[in-house]
Amino acid sequence: MVCNGLQLRAIMASEREKPRIIAFEVTRRCRFQCKHCRANAVPACAGMTEREELTTKQCKRILASIAKFSGTASGKKKTKSKAGKPIIIMTGGEPMERSDIYELIRYGRDLGLRMVMATCGYLIDDESIAKLKKAGVQALSFSLDGCSAETHDRFRQAEGAFDAVIRAAEIARRAGMRFQINTTICKINIDEVAGIIELAKRLGAYCFDAFILVPTGRGEKIADEILDPLRYEVLLNELLGLKLESAIELRVTCGPQFARVCKQARVKKLIGSVSGCMGGRGFGFISYQGDVQTCGFLDISAGNLIENGFNFRKIWLGSEFLKEVRDVSGYKGKCGTCEYVGVCGGCRARAYAMSSDYLGADPVCKFVKREASCSGGGLHRDE
Ligand code: SF4
Ligand code: SF4
Repeated sequence: MVCNGLQLRAIMASEREKPRIIAFEVTRRCRFQCKHCRANAVPACAGMTEREELTTKQCKRILASIAKFSGTASGKKKTKSKAGKPIIIMTGGEPMERSDIYELIRYGRDLGLRMVMATCGYLIDDESIAKLKKAGVQALSFSLDGCSAETHDRFRQAEGAFDAVIRAAEIARRAGMRFQINTTICKINIDEVAGIIELAKRLGAYCFDAFILVPTGRGEKIADEILDPLRYEVLLNELLGLKLESAIELRVTCGPQFARVCKQARVKKLIGSVSGCMGGRGFGFISYQGDVQTCGFLDISAGNLIENGFNFRKIWLGSEFLKEVRDVSGYKGKCGTCEYVGVCGGCRARAYAMSSDYLGADPVCKFVKREASCSGGGLHRDE
């Protein structure tokens, strides 16, 4: 167990921390059947019950509760400052499947929240993009899992998915809507990563976000497609090189070891700006049933917003589960003795998926601790 004074301070600070980004799963409906889908999204016709999706009113009450906690809905005069205003990622399933999506986005925007949306793109056209802009969406993310139709469509298990997302990106660019490209990386598409980044640049994306596969939801079936630790380590170093050189912004999500790699490489300008796992700290997730989670991949509820009367603050600050996840001194296995645990944290969801222990070691990590003492060189999130 690694635990020094600096880390304890970091842990205590994180308990008070308000989330800067919250993903809100507004639906599980989706016309695709992606192999890696953590949401296990289903077509609308597949026997959905009313508990598969919250009502418009429930969604609004959740947004209001977040805004109240973050202080954006305090009635104070609006400022241009982004400080304190969390980003809300409307996600799914495919959020565009909801007919009230514009109403919800407008409502969140009027509460002072920064509204963005993650989409597969198949419902994006000139009309919908204009409505999204008017409602107040600040940016979109498009999922693109291959640089060819063959790879992307196979991943999405839907013919025409590649053409649809390329068309959506072109429409977004024409409309002046900022967008990023999200790619879930595993053995299936590892050889296409450089090609996808090039494609993202050509399409006009401002950012390429590399998601490292977490085998949950439908992704459980492709758990053996996770990169082996050596290949993963090479990828992280390649991504670091690209981040330093590339004209496009490059991020890594759910690959918290990237923060460790940046720290090890002593790239000063990246230290502190590249985060490890933010789940349950700066990042939160709300499920299609109103459960508050650390993230969408760790399917454990910290509390339900419908059942507790829409009190986000109470769950975020009071949940024993969240406190446990935030406390890196309780991590086990390799992560528990790692000098970089406060920088990286390991992926709690991958640990849970692969070993049923969310405090256990992240199985994709290759890092081997040098001879080190527990008290000597511990690093923490704020360094
Ligand atoms: S637990 Fe894993 S999947 Fe969840 S936010 Fe952290 S790194 Fe990402
Ligand atoms: S051992 Fe765990 S905490 Fe350390 S770098 Fe690897 S995943 Fe991160």
